[in-house]
Amino acid sequence: MEKKSLNIESRLAQIGSVQEPVTGAVTFPIYQATAYRHPKLGQSTGFDYSRTKNPTRSVLEEACAELESGDAGFACSSGMAALQTIFALFGQGDHLIVSLDLYGGTYRLLERIMAKFGVSATYVDTNDLDALEGSRRPNTKAVFIETPTNPLMMITDLEAVCTWARHHQLISIVDNTLLTPYFQRPIELGADIVIHSATKYLGGHNDVLAGIIVTKGKELSEEMAFLHNSIGAVLSPSDSYQLMRGMKTLALRMDAHERNATAVATFLTTHPAIENVYYPALPDHPGHEIQNRQSSGNTGIFSFKVKDARYVEPVLRHVKLIAFAESLGGVESLMTYPAVQTHADIPLEIREAIGVDDRLLRFSVGIEHVDDLIADLDAALGAAIAEVEGSAGE
Ligand SMILES: *Cc1c(COP(=O)(O)O)cnc(C)c1O
Repeated sequence: MEKKSLNIESRLAQIGSVQEPVTGAVTFPIYQATAYRHPKLGQSTGFDYSRTKNPTRSVLEEACAELESGDAGFACSSGMAALQTIFALFGQGDHLIVSLDLYGGTYRLLERIMAKFGVSATYVDTNDLDALEGSRRPNTKAVFIETPTNPLMMITDLEAVCTWARHHQLISIVDNTLLTPYFQRPIELGADIVIHSATKYLGGHNDVLAGIIVTKGKELSEEMAFLHNSIGAVLSPSDSYQLMRGMKTLALRMDAHERNATAVATFLTTHPAIENVYYPALPDHPGHEIQNRQSSGNTGIFSFKVKDARYVEPVLRHVKLIAFAESLGGVESLMTYPAVQTHADIPLEIREAIGVDDRLLRFSVGIEHVDDLIADLDAALGAAIAEVEGSAGE
């Protein structure tokens, strides 16, 4: 397709723009119809029933497939719905190798639901090829990678792991939620499947829940189409529109998120209340070099550890501009306490082994003015220190 020669900013801005043939509408309409009239017996317009295929959803799916350099895209009702659809590739007796530091919902889906269907998982540091090889079994079918991981921002060398996976005929699946195809395209590095919680950066405005799957290869794309239709956790036409609306500004937003996150993370590295900042854009982050090699930019979220767990509660109470809320990737800044929110379903011993403890906070840096964000955070940290020291002195 000629489109691919355009830069990604142009392709994003133009999603659905010249595809409406009847009226010339410059944004693609929302087709609410669930059924489509057949011209005659044995003929179809290409659309039969909206669970299988819907015109509005198709425009979104084709755009996502193209952006991720895949062959087919599938829009789902949430990131979890997308993950469930992907995991339906596996069945009784199958084994998966999965990133150790993992989105809590993915862990819960694997351990509480897929386990009931006989699918088991081993959690390893996917950047350690020896650990990967050590966890591989005769029944291993796939490797599932988050990079950067959420919340600890560990980086996996995608090309190395996908090459290893291909060698052993394992499917490689990458959760690309944190970087989006604007910054990182795992299929170009050898992955077979990319999944997104489009609720996050793709949508970008904390106002649409959606998931995206992109597959590479004819066989896998056909199987995913079958699962997507059979399971039926598809994205509605109006949410498909809403998601495309958000994606048009993805490039602008990601650049702003990265710029702000880098400035705020750098500010925190020297703050007296902070022990550690986990952000791959910082030069001393262990994954910095790999991240720079395989991605063209950095996500807008990072985590940090306060020196004293008693700071957490007052910090969350004192932030004003930054909202204490779950989720990430929207234009508004949100701060989360992973140990009790997003990662509560991960057993304490796993959480503590990887460092998701009661001193860790995760910050999804929005596109507000960076000076306002730093001032808000600085004031909340100062108030927290004052409260804790005040109580210790009593
Ligand atoms: C939020 C998230 C999910 C789940 O997506 P939902 O849209 O909330 O269902 C999966 N993976 C990652 C990395 C996420 O951040």
